[in-house]
Amino acid sequence: MKTKKSQEIFKKSQTILVGGVNSPVRAFGSVGGTPLVIKKGQGAAIYDEDGNRYIDFVMSWGALILGHAHPVVVQTLQQTASHGTSFGAPTQVEYLLAKEIQKTFPSLQKIRFVNSGTEATQSAIRLARGFTKREKILKFSGCYHGHTDSLLVKAGSGGATFGIPTSQGILEAVSEKTRVLEFNIDEKELSDFFAQEGKELAAVIVEPIAANMGVVLPSKNFLKKLRELCSDFGVLLIFDEVITGFRVNVGGAQKIYDIKPDLTCLGKIIGGGLPVGAYGGRQDIMNNLSPLGGVYQAGTLSGNPLAMAAGLATLKELSQKGIYSRLKAKTAYFCQRLQKILQTSESSCQMNWTTGMFTIFFNSSRVKNFYSAQASDTKAYAHFFHAMLQKGIYLPPSQFEANFISLAHSKKDLDTVLEAIKDYFYEK
Ligand SMILES: *Cc1c(COP(=O)(O)O)cnc(C)c1O
Repeated sequence: MKTKKSQEIFKKSQTILVGGVNSPVRAFGSVGGTPLVIKKGQGAAIYDEDGNRYIDFVMSWGALILGHAHPVVVQTLQQTASHGTSFGAPTQVEYLLAKEIQKTFPSLQKIRFVNSGTEATQSAIRLARGFTKREKILKFSGCYHGHTDSLLVKAGSGGATFGIPTSQGILEAVSEKTRVLEFNIDEKELSDFFAQEGKELAAVIVEPIAANMGVVLPSKNFLKKLRELCSDFGVLLIFDEVITGFRVNVGGAQKIYDIKPDLTCLGKIIGGGLPVGAYGGRQDIMNNLSPLGGVYQAGTLSGNPLAMAAGLATLKELSQKGIYSRLKAKTAYFCQRLQKILQTSESSCQMNWTTGMFTIFFNSSRVKNFYSAQASDTKAYAHFFHAMLQKGIYLPPSQFEANFISLAHSKKDLDTVLEAIKDYFYEK
């Protein structure tokens, strides 16, 4: 496979862009080698600068549930752009997207749009502190909530990839207000923690289905117990559904587990591939935001017409009947066969999956939290990653990220990948 152009462009990029990238995991740090420079995408495929084609399982880290360059989204963007790209004044499309989100996320009585998932979680935490007049927050190890200071403590995603428990440059005065427990911690330990510190907590933030240490599902009572304890201790429960929102189901993980958080953060899919984030929830809490209340949060490009229009077009497509059962069936088709390959080949790998996403852990024991995820053989993953790349399959360049299946992945794409993985494990 020729990657000469990618190599040349990336080399030049490194002279001016830090590490040649604008987000760390893209640099292939944990799998080695030179990143491919991507030229275009179409459906489930991406093409690098040398013209190689790959079946894509990154899908802009889950944002592109309809696939690359979906014709309806592209057309909407072209039309919208021709009328101006930003006004810094209210537009109708903000209202329309908020309404569309609320249809399937009724817990979002009020919504505020921002420009990234990071902004959403950061603002939700500020709001929770303003509302409760408390300072501490609780998060879970391996959950990633963007790169805001207070949440960049034992975070997943790039933090896991680069083995950084907590970033440098964060004030101790900030990080010491963040408490961290293991995801899926047992009920007794969770109750004990709340008995000790519950009254000082402003909020608990959690990915209801974790996807930034690889996919990790919540155990049966974990979320339920969290909801109970938060209510008992006057702590706001924040669901970070930046990945799970509009992916795992209509109405996200909160619908699947039938739990109503006080606040929810969204991003990725709701921007249709453009920069976006949103947070929302109980009206009595949200009304504490400026201009109605004393918690300040603003944005020059927030709610900008392009992101709103791309998001609205995407959610409209997703509102068609039977879309999620299709995605669910597609994922099940692929993951059940993959699981069988892993088992029969004695690969000492196992996988976690849910609708629209999965992770193969190079790990012989079941992964149920960050501690068990970290026991994975990242060298073996790197080898697998490069072998797949050679076969035209683009997986996330880190063991600790989810693979995303979109509506654009065809049965043929999935069969091609299954065949490649089968060859890999059976030949070994
Ligand atoms: C991606 C992600 C974020 C951060 O979103 P950005 O748009 O990258 O800032 C926050 N939370 C979760 C769960 C995410 O997956």
